[in-house]
Amino acid sequence: MANIRILNGEAFPVEMHKVRVIQKLNLPPVEERAKAVTLAGNNTFLLRNRDVFLDMLTDSGVNAMSDNQLSAMLRADDSYAGSETFFRLQESLDHVFQKEFFLPAHQGRACEHILAKTFVKKGSIVPMNYHFTTTKAHITELGGQVLEIPTKEAYKITSACPFKGNLDIEALKEALQKHAGRIPFVRLEAGTNLIGGQPLSLDNIKETYAVCKKAGVPLVLDASLLSDNLHFIKTREDKYKRLSILEITREIARHSDIIYFSARKLSSARGGGICTSNKDYYLLMRELVPMYEGFLTYGGMSVREMEAMAVGLVETMDENVISQGPEFIDYMTRQLAAAGVPVVTPGGGLGCHLDAKAFLPHIDQRQYPSGALAVALYIISGVRGMERGTLSEQRDENGNEPLADMELVRLAMPRRVFTMSQVKYAIDRIVWLHKNAGLVGGLTWDEEPRVLRFFYGRLLPVGDWQERLVEKFKQDFGDSL
Ligand SMILES: *Cc1c(COP(=O)(O)O)cnc(C)c1O
Repeated sequence: MANIRILNGEAFPVEMHKVRVIQKLNLPPVEERAKAVTLAGNNTFLLRNRDVFLDMLTDSGVNAMSDNQLSAMLRADDSYAGSETFFRLQESLDHVFQKEFFLPAHQGRACEHILAKTFVKKGSIVPMNYHFTTTKAHITELGGQVLEIPTKEAYKITSACPFKGNLDIEALKEALQKHAGRIPFVRLEAGTNLIGGQPLSLDNIKETYAVCKKAGVPLVLDASLLSDNLHFIKTREDKYKRLSILEITREIARHSDIIYFSARKLSSARGGGICTSNKDYYLLMRELVPMYEGFLTYGGMSVREMEAMAVGLVETMDENVISQGPEFIDYMTRQLAAAGVPVVTPGGGLGCHLDAKAFLPHIDQRQYPSGALAVALYIISGVRGMERGTLSEQRDENGNEPLADMELVRLAMPRRVFTMSQVKYAIDRIVWLHKNAGLVGGLTWDEEPRVLRFFYGRLLPVGDWQERLVEKFKQDFGDSL
């Protein structure tokens, strides 16, 4: 993406694509937004899309497709077995990862299901740089345990470290020794999801692989967020600056035994799959595909999406395609930080992350500052983010509530979806909210589900802070938008 400097010295990333299909957006007035969020139980997951202006909830399944992806979807070969579409997808995967075998699955968590069922048993321990919600669920469901060993930098909100997603190599060596015989595989997530989209370095992947190889333990790579990570290796890891994106991808793939991914993110389509060159692993996992996903040439996916994946994967090898997300996130992160708004730094992939603990220091963690911030931001802007804090945790068996290490609001940047003026709008409203943060109050439960409560739980504001926030907004902006 071209980072263009304009006459007044300001620089910003300019879109290297043009919009040819549009979806009309709706920005309801502030009073209506307040009503909508009340109806949604103060949970941004429960808002209806027609009430949302900029949907920054997630990057999953909502990335914009290219003209070439859309046209490829028309030629999809719809047959149960032996579809040409499957072979085109396999060829495309082989081109980027150079792995001999491919197993299709309907999305990322389905790959995790197959991997866990094949390798994990009661007492297993799976070391990883960081967990993802569905990864952990599949491993623990089978009686296994997740061992998180990221670098110390991972937990620091503000940092200059370019690769906060790295795995701690010394901790891995220790774990492999201490838990010898109980580790079915080591997992690397490149890049990380729950710690602010922070990337891993290629050197870290290579070192992890070398340690795993020595211990005879396979290395599994979760490549769902790989496209952002590729951009960060290219731009932040001096040693590899000269490699093309394709060369970096192949280097990564050469240093992992199994690669799986969610195509809802990687390739800007929908679906998923597992690649490996190890025939034994392939045969073991293959048994589960027809049982849980579908026949080996579609694995639960629509052939149209598979065509879009095949093209999207090759497009991912173009720096101008993959840089849009991270560059917009970097711009947003820098602008917010410069205005004194607490954000996770440096900017990562996936989205811009607000630090709700510092944004709303007056709100006790038991009144869910991240949840309150996501709700307040929606009211004053129509921007929908996702709570990633204590609400996203689960109570223990005694009903006690663990408080999250970090209270974040994630503002996802679906790839190639938003324009710069929309990003500027979001930044402006967040800065306004930060100046008026004292008006925001906490949340309390109305209906609390027992599991995955953040998805569909309902909450109430503590006191009348939402009415006062709406009043101040109207005063300052002179109207209701
Ligand atoms: C989204 C995601 C998954 C799960 O993929 P789905 O397609 O949503 O099932 C797994 N790992 C990471 C890192 C992800 O971001």
